[in-house]
Amino acid sequence: AKQSGRNNFKVFAELMRAQADEILLIEHELRDALANEHLSLYYQPQISMQTGAVTGVEALLRWQHPEIGFISPSRFIPVAEESGLILELGSWVLRTAARQQALWCSTGVPVASMAVNLSAGQVYKDGFAEMVAGVLEQNQLPPAMLDLELTERIAMEHSSKTLTTLTELQELGVTLSIDDFGTGYSSLSYLKRYPINKLKIDKSFVDGVGDDPEDQAIVLAIIGIARALGFRTVAEGVETAAQWQFLHDHGCDEYQGYYFSRALPVQELEALLRAQPPA
Ligand code: C2E
Ligand code: CA
Ligand code: CA
Ligand code: CA
Repeated sequence: AKQSGRNNFKVFAELMRAQADEILLIEHELRDALANEHLSLYYQPQISMQTGAVTGVEALLRWQHPEIGFISPSRFIPVAEESGLILELGSWVLRTAARQQALWCSTGVPVASMAVNLSAGQVYKDGFAEMVAGVLEQNQLPPAMLDLELTERIAMEHSSKTLTTLTELQELGVTLSIDDFGTGYSSLSYLKRYPINKLKIDKSFVDGVGDDPEDQAIVLAIIGIARALGFRTVAEGVETAAQWQFLHDHGCDEYQGYYFSRALPVQELEALLRAQPPA
């Protein structure tokens, strides 16, 4: 037993080292990617349930590593958050998305809103709202065209600081969405404290719509809370006609998902919009 315990430890230690090595490697390579423009944003359409028109897009980060190939944001965002690199990365995302949105705005490409994902470290950083104001100003972008997505975890922690920052952002005129709603903390009290505009129904609940009565009940409850508190709802990860139908019939406002489109690079998104009937 002793022998096997030691072996287990050895395996464990090697695993930890391999993981630590991977984290260091990702961090190092990510710095390089930022400097060498190996990062890009893809844009996933958000569609109105009522009209079928594209109302906005969500900017999603893509990393094409010259040797390793595509690396998923689910792998490298946590590393960037851990290392603090998320501040630089996050402001790159914000500036790039705002510049793109301003360009679409001035060339008549009908994208009414640009959603950008935020990490905790960005929101908690002093001067975050001023930074956002500067980016809007630099790009002459109407604030209402920017939608900032934050997770429940961000909303819950550091609550007085967060309240100040979110209030400043609201005063700027940007909209605020709660991402992955229902998967974080159980407390709902932050919903009445913070100036929130939308709840995004997490894909994990949308997945079960059509065959899991419990997921359906949760989705209906989220739509009900949103209605009662005056928030819009956006369903994410809609993949099937049955999911679309259920969400449509129960008053969800907008959706995103492979049922309509994946996240696309700029030119593909523009081609898709050109092929769409006008709103
Ligand atoms: P998220 O914000 O929940 O984004 C939705 C994810 O679901 C995206 O994965 C999207 O491509 C994927 N998705 C959308 N529709 C469907 C669908 O119908 N089916 C399936 N199977 N998947 C769908 P992605 O792009 O890999 O991003 C993963 C996560 O990485 C995001 O989850 C977000 O938390 C984070 N992330 C991405 N870009 C950024 C960024 O610029 N900043 C920060 N802080 N986080 C980011
Ligand atoms: Ca998101
Ligand atoms: Ca989400
Ligand atoms: Ca999600």
